[in-house]
Amino acid sequence: MLNKKTVRDIQVSGKRVLVRCDFNVPLDKEDPSKITSDKRIVESLKTIKYLVNAGARVILCSHLGKTGQNKTLAPVAKRLSEYLEKDVPLLKDIISDETKDFVMNMNDGDVCLLENTRMYEEEENNDPEFARKLASLAEVFVNDAFGSAHRAHASTEGVTHYLPSVAGFLIEKEISALDGGINNPQRPLVAIVGGSKVSSKIAVLTNLLDKVDTLLIGGGMTYTFVKAQGGNIGKSLLEEDKIDVAKEILKKAEEKNVRLVLPLDTVVTDEMSENGNVFVSAPNEIPDEYMGVDIGPKTVELFKSIIADAGTVVWNGPVGVFEIDKFAVGTNSIANALAQSNAVTIIGGGDSAAAVEKAGLSEKMSHVSTGGGASLELMEGKKLPGIEALEDKE
Ligand code: ADP
Ligand code: MG
Repeated sequence: MLNKKTVRDIQVSGKRVLVRCDFNVPLDKEDPSKITSDKRIVESLKTIKYLVNAGARVILCSHLGKTGQNKTLAPVAKRLSEYLEKDVPLLKDIISDETKDFVMNMNDGDVCLLENTRMYEEEENNDPEFARKLASLAEVFVNDAFGSAHRAHASTEGVTHYLPSVAGFLIEKEISALDGGINNPQRPLVAIVGGSKVSSKIAVLTNLLDKVDTLLIGGGMTYTFVKAQGGNIGKSLLEEDKIDVAKEILKKAEEKNVRLVLPLDTVVTDEMSENGNVFVSAPNEIPDEYMGVDIGPKTVELFKSIIADAGTVVWNGPVGVFEIDKFAVGTNSIANALAQSNAVTIIGGGDSAAAVEKAGLSEKMSHVSTGGGASLELMEGKKLPGIEALEDKE
């Protein structure tokens, strides 16, 4: 549970409130003025509307893209104006006198948006002077940027040194779902961990072994586990230097009485495209020229039956190369099984969320996290600096 103060715990009427949102939305490659998914904007509206209705003067800020790309938040300002049904001016230079003048002359209920914080390299360096200037625009700070909470940057952590700082509703919702789902779940708790590499999931697997009843493994990391058990994995993804880690995880699962389930069968191909030869193989008998790219039909059935009996399912990482339609069957079947299940279903991880979204099933899940990296770090049991820096609940 979130043990931090939220917007409900402070007086905001008539105050200038700096709100850090996660408006790092995907933009169309051909036409960067087009937002391809505005989920993060929609998810930020609850906090913004609450502040507007409470009579605050709302100063929004966010990063967009990487430092050096200098992407403009103009399309976000436009979309916000539409959703809020009021003008949301974009203030071009965050730390200029004009911006200061503008915010000093705002009225209760007004909303403005500061330009992309990553137009300043001080943002990622968490430069104290930049953070102080940003903070000087406001009297209160609200962090609602869950997707950026794992980064200690000037606009997420730096500003908290200069202003009373609380959480917004999105951060509250994300923590309650992800932390609650893992640390206080309806049992049995089943985790599905996929994705590409063991190396990027060691911390998640290790932390989850202390929490879950059943751990289902899929995706690219499967083959390092199979190799650790002495199987033939052909050209499948292998991290030679993580074979010992895989052995260690298998051993720990046994010690902790966690049911760890590896795929029973796997879809293999001789070419990573729609055009290769494809068949289903035992994961430990993959021919030399072939690689595993999805879970097979028997595994889908097994995973489905385990999901059907679960109280809570936490999913991080696609179980196949879902970007290629032919190898997305396993991932889509898991998404459908979660959508149909009565369990609490929690999706963390950027690609897993994208897969669920692509299947049109987001609404059927209990929670789809807006933060890929942040949700992963939470599942690893880490503290998020952007949240730690907020004021504790009394
Ligand atoms: P998330 O963002 O949900 O945490 P990851 O980033 O860990 O997920 O993993 C997603 C990637 O894993 C996808 O790009 C997918 O193609 C890849 N992947 C899944 N299965 C395999 C596989 N068998 N071989 C290679 N890559 C895979
Ligand atoms: Mg990813």
